[in-house]
This record gives sequence, C-alpha cells and structure tokens, in this order.
Amino acid sequence: MNFADSEVVGSILAQAGYSLAPTLDEAGFVLINTCAIRDNAEQRVRHRVRELRAAQQRRHNLRIGILGCMAERLQSRLMEEEDNISFVCGPDAYRRLPDILQQVRHGQKASEVELSTTETYADIEPVRLASNGISAYISIMRGCQNYCAYCVVPYTRGRERSRDPKTIVEEARHLFDRGYREVTLLGQNVNSYQCDHTDFPELMDAVAAIDPALRVRFATSHPKDLSDRLLEVMASHPNICRCIHLPVQSGSNRMLKLMNRRYTVEWYLDRIEAIRRHLPDCSITTDVIAGFSTETEEDHQATLDLFRHVRYDYAYMFKYSLREGTYAWKHLPDDIADQEKTRRLNEIIALQGQIALENNQQEIGREYEVLVEGESHRSKERLFGRNSQNKVIVFDRQDARPGTYRKVLVETCTAATLLGRLTD
Ligand code: SAH
Ligand code: SF4
Repeated sequence: MNFADSEVVGSILAQAGYSLAPTLDEAGFVLINTCAIRDNAEQRVRHRVRELRAAQQRRHNLRIGILGCMAERLQSRLMEEEDNISFVCGPDAYRRLPDILQQVRHGQKASEVELSTTETYADIEPVRLASNGISAYISIMRGCQNYCAYCVVPYTRGRERSRDPKTIVEEARHLFDRGYREVTLLGQNVNSYQCDHTDFPELMDAVAAIDPALRVRFATSHPKDLSDRLLEVMASHPNICRCIHLPVQSGSNRMLKLMNRRYTVEWYLDRIEAIRRHLPDCSITTDVIAGFSTETEEDHQATLDLFRHVRYDYAYMFKYSLREGTYAWKHLPDDIADQEKTRRLNEIIALQGQIALENNQQEIGREYEVLVEGESHRSKERLFGRNSQNKVIVFDRQDARPGTYRKVLVETCTAATLLGRLTD
C-alpha cells in the first residue's frame, strides 16, 4: 500500500516540477513513507531519520519529511522527538505536498494530517517509481473501519472509501498498453469495495476483461466477507491469479472475538473449503499474530492446529505489538511476556516452514505458465518469474525475456522457491 502511495506522491511532485534525485547528496528533500502497524516498523523509520543527520551535516539545506501512517499517528509530536524532521504529512494530505515543500524551503516546519472521507487520488496516474515495467499496484480503496482491536490502521488511514471504478479500469488498461502484464488491486478489505453500484466481483470482472494476457491479483481479503460470487468470477477468468491472501490472525475463537475479527474458525474454514471447491489449484496465504492479549497455550495450540489443517503456501507471521489508541490499548492487557511471544511465533514459523517445503515438494513434476520478471538474484544466467499461484520459479535463461509468458517444468525446490526448466 505504501509502495502504491509513494507512486501517487511521485506523480503529485512531478506535476509540481520536482524530480527524483539520483543520489542522496543531490537531493533537496528526503521523503520517508512510513508504516505504523507495529512498533518495530516505526523504530526502523526513526533509525533511518537519525542516520540522515550525517547527510544533513554535510548539506544544511537537506530537509526530511515523514509521510504516511507514522506522520498521521504522531503528528507534530514526531517533529519534537526527531528534531531534524521538517514536516509530517498524513496519507490523505499528499495533494498539499507542493505547498508544504515551498514552506519548508523557507525554513518553516509543517504538519498536514487531516484525514478525508472522500480522497482516493482517483485522478492521479501514479508514476511507476521502482517498477520492473511488468507488474504494478493499483490502489482501489483507502482507509478501513473494521476496527480490529489490535490495529492502528483505522486511526491512521481514516474511513473506508472506494475509488471510481472507471478510473481503475482505465489505469489498468493504460498499464497493459504500456507493456505491463500484471496488476495487483489493493485495499485493506477489497471485498467491501463499493462504488457507483459496482462491487468487488464486478470490478474484478471488468479488470480481467481488459485482456486475457493481463494477470490480475488482489490484496487483502477480509475473511468475513469473502463471497462465493467473487470465487465464481475468479473461476471464470483464467487470468485472475489463483492466489488468495486470507489473514486468519488466530486459530482460537476466543482470540478472534477479542480481536473483533467478526468471524469464527468454523466460518473461516468454510471459506477455505469454498476456495478449494471453486478454485482447486488456488494457493492460500495468511497473516497471523502470536501473543495477543490473554492468549493461552491452548489458544496458541489452536493456531498451530489451524495451520496444520489449512496448510498455507505462505504466511506473514507477527508478534503482537501494542498500538496506542486502539481498543486493545484502551481495554485489554498486553500480558504475554515478550519471550513467550517470541517462542510462540518461532513455533508457528517452524511449522509453516515445514508445510511450505512439503507443499513445494508436491509441485515437482508440474508444469506452469510463468510470467518472467527478471534476473535471479543469485545468477545472471537464470531468470525468475511467478506462476498464477504467486510462487517464485527460477529457471535457466535460454531465450526467455522478462515480460513474456513461458512454460516451466518444476524440477526441485526449497521452502521459498521452485526451480525448473523451460519447456516451450
Ligand atoms: N487489512 C488487512 C491487514 C492489514 S495489516 C486484514 O485485515 O487482513 C497487515 C497485518 O499486520 C495484519 O493482518 C496483522 O496480522 C498484522 N498486524 C496488524 N496490527 C498488528 C499489531 N498491533 N501487532 C502485530 N501484528 C499486527
Ligand atoms: Fe486493521 Fe482489521 Fe482494518 Fe485489517 S481489517 S486494516 S487488521 S482494522
């Protein structure tokens, strides 16, 4: 989401006459787009800000600005705590950036953190900042009002709002015409997308209809409203990728209730079954939190059991981090010792590593259509791409080119990567 937002910021600033500096020493401004979801994300940003002091000592007019959720959460407090920051700008205030930079140039400090109920940046075609020219993000909605008890997003990104579907389809078509072959539609809960009588299944249908050679992905689906209709639309378009990210957070009903997730384990498993029924070759990934308020060993074991049952292809696994202002901060104790959170997290990571490896071993001998993305990090002689299930496949380069579809037979694997050879 921040990656997509940075591209919107890039576009707003380009229109105001700014361009990307090739190196830090040529830059007039450093803008850091930030995440506030967990404390360690914020600590990394603070570390970066402090590191930049050295560059500011070399060049006194280098100004630093903080964008995004940390700016929204901490507002001008952040400029007091880190006094080398010149401005903070929240996620709904990016159109104000050209004015802010003007002010800051004249030595003032600025704080723009007003949230909006309508801003979607729908008319702004993002500049593709660090893109490979093949795959791009398209933000389709902003904000969230699900108020999961642990989560800071509703406070830093404001009310949920959906972007005009016509602008989304246009942006995707424009990307395809420029050679892009994959778009990922982004929102905190894409299943609740709703704009001008268009809901998410209809939007997916329209984007997938642009061209069968355009792959369409999306993230994230909240399990409480993953509908059969969406699965039917997916099944009817082979270019909608067979991969669903369905964050579970916990395998214990008591935890899910306390987290205000508004589904039960039984509901979640029913949705998993529905996915497997409509899309037998679909990969499923998740997010999970270890050590949420009052989590017992029994709750933790329930999460491990759920992981054994679902057998995710990938999981983002986190230790619970208490966030100021959330329901949990106000009403629930953060009572699991850090060491214990770490132990539980490590158990989930170890189990998931084993499952991912076993899942990948099942892939050996299968042939996939791969969208070639670029050179493998390890060797120039090898390329990598992804299959529809979003699994990375590495293979010998031969005559393959990035941005094209090729057939690859999987021959070996690790827990993270499939290795294969071209067959077409
Ligand atoms: N909207 C998405 C999640 C966005 S945040 C959804 O609800 O599915 C990405 C992930 O960060 C969450 O799924 C959750 O697992 C994790 N997360 C959010 N708040 C957290 C916190 N306070 N501590 C630890 N992990 C957290
Ligand atoms: Fe946070 Fe819940 Fe919204 Fe996801 S759905 S962003 S976890 S409040």
